Amino acid sequence: MKFAPAKPPIYGQTLDSLQQWLKSAGEPAFRAKQIMQWLYKKRAKAWDEMTNLPQSLRSTLETSFDIAPSKRLLDKQSADSTEKLLLQMADGALVETVVIRAPQIGVGLNKSRKTICISTQVGCAYGCKFCASGLSGWKRDLSAGEIVSQLIQVCHQEDDSTPRAEESIASFDNVVVMGMGEPLANYENLLEALRVLNAPWGLNFGARRITVSTSGIVPKILELAQEPEQFRLAVSLHGATNEVRDAIMPINKRYPLETLLPAIKEYGASKGRMITLEFILIDSVNDTLDQADALAKIATDLSAHINLIPYNAVPGMDWKRPSITRQDRFHDRLKNKGARTTIRREKGHDIAAACGQLKLQTESAA
Ligand code: SAH
Ligand code: SF4
Repeated sequence: MKFAPAKPPIYGQTLDSLQQWLKSAGEPAFRAKQIMQWLYKKRAKAWDEMTNLPQSLRSTLETSFDIAPSKRLLDKQSADSTEKLLLQMADGALVETVVIRAPQIGVGLNKSRKTICISTQVGCAYGCKFCASGLSGWKRDLSAGEIVSQLIQVCHQEDDSTPRAEESIASFDNVVVMGMGEPLANYENLLEALRVLNAPWGLNFGARRITVSTSGIVPKILELAQEPEQFRLAVSLHGATNEVRDAIMPINKRYPLETLLPAIKEYGASKGRMITLEFILIDSVNDTLDQADALAKIATDLSAHINLIPYNAVPGMDWKRPSITRQDRFHDRLKNKGARTTIRREKGHDIAAACGQLKLQTESAA
């Protein structure tokens, strides 16, 4: 399929950059605030809805920016109310965005907490041995606008089904940057996108409700620690010793545990927030009691929370998910050692919700 040359998505603009653009187009800068209002507060889907802008400006905007937040190709709903969107970017690239709903205790049945999992790259260069996203390597970074537009997709979809009070801007409660790609390898675009999300003229969404997950790019963890926003950090650990982590994640050769763990500690200290360690349980690879003991020690030293995720088998990869008995044995051992831990079972398993899996299924069926 051929794709028309892409216009940049409007969602990558900041108030500043839009003001600059307006100036160079001979338009007054105050229009930028009006445009942002239409995009994020009123959620306009077409330039012509922006009735307080002159027609000529609406036409210039139309030829310069894309207001459609990508194309929804597939929309899969799982039995446990995880929903996965497969989105097609203007150049045809496929990207996954996942909506995870968790019931909220005591707030009525139809009120659930909604977490959106967004992608930052097409493919991934890091080649972790359990992950579908890395299977065919890195294709390209997503632009800031493409990252924000995943959230706008979800907002538009929600607006279609549920009328919204204008003041409730974002129709989700948490954002996790855990989809396809390594967010810290696309640092500039990631930060710009998160700032649009965070800004009062944007989605006005609190930084403390945004979690960035990384496979452990140490210099970028340290850089993020210095940013003014209080983003939460999750680190994909998956091995509690260098020997085991080396076998699962090639990045461990570059940033082994003795450099990664101090960087995580520094992040925690500079933000005053608890870090999450993600640990996928893979049968007989990293689910031994020795690994549990080493992991408990790491988590206690870092005052971190451990998120255990039973491995979702990826076609073409040899590893298996451990039995429930082995999963429980590992989990119990962590608890007995005093570690803070939860086990995340089965969210979206039936719709291939682990990162990169839906895209992989779609591409291999094509
Ligand atoms: N690159 C970043 C963020 C994307 S991957 C990182 O590595 O942290 C984020 C998470 O996707 C992984 O940590 C893991 O929790 C999940 N994941 C990927 N493949 C999976 C699989 N096959 N089974 C279960 N979880 C998986
Ligand atoms: Fe890339 Fe993260 Fe997948 Fe590793 S786990 S291949 S870093 S997306």
